[in-house]
Amino acid sequence: MKPRTKLQRKIIELSSRLPMFGLDVDKWAKEKVVSHNGYRTKKFIYCTECGQYFDNTGVKDGRKEECPHCGTQLVITTSKKRTDKEERYFCLVDKFDEYQVFRYVYICRTNNHGKPVHYFIDEVMQKWMSLDGAVTIVAKSRLMCSSYSFDGWSHGSDMEIREQGNYYHSFGYSVCVYLTYPKQKWMAEYKKFGVNKQIKDVDPYWLLRTVKYNPSAETLLKARQYSLLAYMANGNRNFIETNWPTIKICMRNKYIVKDASMYADYIRLLDRYHKDLRNAHYVCPKDLNAAHDIYVEKRKKEQEREEKKRNEQRLLRQKKAEKEFEKLKSKFFDLNLSDGKIVIVVLKTLEDFKEEGDAMKHCVFTNEYFKKKDSLILSARIGDKRIETIELNLKTLQVVQSRGVCNQNTEYHDRIISLVNKNINLIRRKLTA
Ligand SMILES: [Zn+2]
Repeated sequence: MKPRTKLQRKIIELSSRLPMFGLDVDKWAKEKVVSHNGYRTKKFIYCTECGQYFDNTGVKDGRKEECPHCGTQLVITTSKKRTDKEERYFCLVDKFDEYQVFRYVYICRTNNHGKPVHYFIDEVMQKWMSLDGAVTIVAKSRLMCSSYSFDGWSHGSDMEIREQGNYYHSFGYSVCVYLTYPKQKWMAEYKKFGVNKQIKDVDPYWLLRTVKYNPSAETLLKARQYSLLAYMANGNRNFIETNWPTIKICMRNKYIVKDASMYADYIRLLDRYHKDLRNAHYVCPKDLNAAHDIYVEKRKKEQEREEKKRNEQRLLRQKKAEKEFEKLKSKFFDLNLSDGKIVIVVLKTLEDFKEEGDAMKHCVFTNEYFKKKDSLILSARIGDKRIETIELNLKTLQVVQSRGVCNQNTEYHDRIISLVNKNINLIRRKLTA
């Protein structure tokens, strides 16, 4: 939108004078912000940087190996992949006039088989913060219906003043910052909060605002608990707040949480098994990976036991249903109606119902027709082939439905119904016997 206020006009003017970031930023982003993968098959490793192959050196998955063609340090993974695409955002912290500026840059790295890598780097948004903390957003425009896509920018559009919409799904003008360029220009009054750090997965703008107003965030920052801080930044503030006493114990023991999402998972498991969440023995494990695995295994076994119990209970319920069914319907079990070609028999067990339902692709078993007291379920067959399944109402002695495979009628439909109707007296006699 067009700048309306004096402040907006000033910021648009400043933004147009803000220098483009230099080649050093470009080089750093290509190196550090995206991954450089080497995909390995039995014989070769495919380099996604230059698009060439080299011999499999036997290096382990997850380790680095230098491509002999282009010299790139590749992270090796066993995979048949021959293309690559990765999108990320990074942030530059800048100072211009009397404003603190946060500049957000989109980077997309793509590789198509056999070709050298392609980078697309585009600055999409700036947040201009004045000394009183007010923020003005200058950004490119958003594509329609793009609120859930990672990119979603109209890259050819102009940087203009943008305001957040009022709708629930409106774009919030915040992006997932993966890294912040290490050379950061902070205003002196913000530096004192200790925000001039390079913390992975943390938007420095979020960091500044949160540290200013939230003492827990400030404490985490000072204690260098960067992973917990990033976890907080990405929608898990609740976990940090609920488990603050535990986190305080970590800090007292100088225990740095390196992988906060795994740590949170581990703490939730400890809690589930009523372990003392204020005991450093539990909450500061030397080997988080191993400790986490022990409890995951414990939980898995518990889930298996629960599943077994559920299965047993289901079986018991089924047996009960079968007994009940037998009690009510066994007097019809010897029913055998035939017109010389079509034979109609009664479904006698739950297994019969299951087979009929599976073969005919309908719901006679899953909807538990065997539980219907007033229904008799019969199967019409020619030789071994099932033709239709019949539901007879035992109160009215009328055929409620007769259906073939996938609930379709067959050419024998009328013949089947008339065969049942012809024998209705026989069924009535069994009913009252
Ligand atoms: Zn290469």
